Amino acid sequence: MDQRVTVVTGGSRGIGAAICLRLAAEGHDVAVGYRSDAEAAEGVAERVRALGRAAVAVAVDTADAAKVDRLFDTAAKYLGPVTGLVNNAGVSGPVGALADADPEGMRQALGVNVLGYLLCARRAIRDMAAGGAIVNVSSAAATLGSPGTYVHYAAAKAAADAMTVGLSKEVAADGIRVNCVAPGTIWTDFHADPQRPAKIAALVPMGRAGQPEEIAGAVAWLLSDDASYATGTVMRIAGGM
Ligand code: NAP
Repeated sequence: MDQRVTVVTGGSRGIGAAICLRLAAEGHDVAVGYRSDAEAAEGVAERVRALGRAAVAVAVDTADAAKVDRLFDTAAKYLGPVTGLVNNAGVSGPVGALADADPEGMRQALGVNVLGYLLCARRAIRDMAAGGAIVNVSSAAATLGSPGTYVHYAAAKAAADAMTVGLSKEVAADGIRVNCVAPGTIWTDFHADPQRPAKIAALVPMGRAGQPEEIAGAVAWLLSDDASYATGTVMRIAGGM
């Protein structure tokens, strides 16, 4: 593969931004997908360029198929053939017991976390040649279930695990690998309660929440040649949770 060109959804901040910078350090050109914060996304693209790689920031609602097509078209136009996808853009939706959850909030969360991942993966495998790779960012919530917090979100992340297994088998013969990283609680602006990572620390065997960079390294490895025999795997990075 001449040049790695990787699309990272939700690349404007948090885990996605750390992934963009780690991939740039490892030689990837990066398309930084974002929903609304153009300034943050352009800031990440600038930091990628400062690391010597090409970058383009692209606004996209990943739950919208036409906008997903525009994301991949723009990435290919400015950076060249896409070789990698990190399905990372996600939202929690309503927080609390399922009995109290707002249906529209749940619909939006499932749209981004499930349909969005499927639409991006669908377009990626249409474009990618042999040697391409996809990493889905799931969550430890997929197996913990998140009772009382966001059962709908845990269910959506379990869907990311399942699509990893199915799609990996579907495209293995094409030379495309599909894997998943399942983070535990990470210090980002994702949480409705900004102090949630501090509050859950006592429940984590390692005694702390994680940092975005601790997820980025796993994603970079799964996209690298070192992971050439890894497909269909869900790598849990959750401090022992
Ligand atoms: P974050 O800091 O809230 O960032 C979310 C990113 O997704 C932002 O770049 C945002 O763009 C983008 N985004 C949101 N909705 C979108 C949409 N409809 N279309 C396109 N982009 C959209 O979240 P994070 O903590 O980095 O989480 C990244 C991933 O890790 C998510 O899939 C999340 O479920 C998963 N995860 C997080 C944790 C955690 O504790 N933080 C734990 C396990 C798994 P804008 O900036 O433009 O709004």
